[in-house]
Amino acid sequence: MEVIRTAAAMTAWSNAQIVAGKRIALVPTMGCLHAGHLSLMRMAADHAEVVVASLFVNPMQFGPHEDFAKYPKVFERDAELAEKSGVAALFAPSVTELYPPGFQTRVVVEEVSQGLCGASRPGHFTGVATVVGKLFNIVKPQVAVFGEKDWQQLAVIRRLVRDLNWDIAIVGHPIVREPDGLAMSSRNTYLSPAERHSALILNQALAEARRLVASGQRQTPVVVAALQRFLAKEPGVVVEYIAVVGQDDLQPRAEITDDALLALAARVGSTRLIDNGRLVTPA
Ligand code: AMP
Repeated sequence: MEVIRTAAAMTAWSNAQIVAGKRIALVPTMGCLHAGHLSLMRMAADHAEVVVASLFVNPMQFGPHEDFAKYPKVFERDAELAEKSGVAALFAPSVTELYPPGFQTRVVVEEVSQGLCGASRPGHFTGVATVVGKLFNIVKPQVAVFGEKDWQQLAVIRRLVRDLNWDIAIVGHPIVREPDGLAMSSRNTYLSPAERHSALILNQALAEARRLVASGQRQTPVVVAALQRFLAKEPGVVVEYIAVVGQDDLQPRAEITDDALLALAARVGSTRLIDNGRLVTPA
C-alpha cells in the first residue's frame, strides 16, 4: 500500500491507474479506523479494481467547541488496518496541503444540510461537502463508499454529485454495530465503561420504535413521545433530537410511512453520538 501525502502525488497515482484501465473506489475517513470503516473498504473493492482510502481530520467540519483537537489520531495502526483491508493507496494529507494559505472556497448543499445534525452543527455539512468535493477532484474515483450511520452526510453527498454532475457512483454501506448493538464510531473511544453501557439505549430506542410501528402505531408524535420517555430511563443520556424523516428528502414525516427513517442524536456524558434506522421492515 502506498501512503500519499500530497494532492499532486495522489492525482498522479490516480491518473496512472486510469491510464491502465483501472476503476478507482474511494473511501473517505477521518481515521481511528474500526471494523465499520474496514467493511466499507472491503465493499469498495467489490466496485472497482483499486481502492483508495483517505485519512483526514477535516477542521472545516468541526465547530469551534467540538472535538477537532482531541479527535483520536493513530496513524500507524490505521495504515496497517487499511492495508490489510485491501487499500492500494492511503491518502493522508496535512491540513495545509488541503487548505493552503489563501483558501476561500466553500461548497454549500442547502436544504438537506439544514435539519437534524445540521441544526446543531452549523457549517458542518459545508465542511463535509467542501472536503469531499476536493477529494473527488484529487482522487478521481468512479465510485465512493459512505456509511449509512451518517445518513444525512450520505444524503448531502448524493445531492452534491447530482447537483454538480459528478460522474461518481455513491454507494451506501449499512451501519456496522458492536455485538451488543452500539453503532461503531471512532467517538466511542471517548466513552467511560459506564457511558458505554448507557449508550446502548440509542439502538434499543430504535428497536422500541420498530415495535411500536409493528403494533400499528404510525403517528410520529406518539412514537417520538414514547421514545423520549424510553430514553429518559438513562439519566446520563441527553437527547438532542429524535426525528422521523423521509429517507431521501430528510423532511419531517407526521406519519410513519414506509420510507420513514428514525434519526437520533444524543449526548452521552460529553460525547455526541448518532444512530438511525428504518422503521418499517420491507415486506
Ligand atoms: P468517519 O471516519 O467517522 O468520518 O467515517 C468515515 C466513513 O465511515 C463515513 O462514510 C461513515 O459513515 C462510515 N462509518 C463510520 N462508522 C460506521 C459504522 N458504524 N457503520 C457504517 N459506516 C460507518
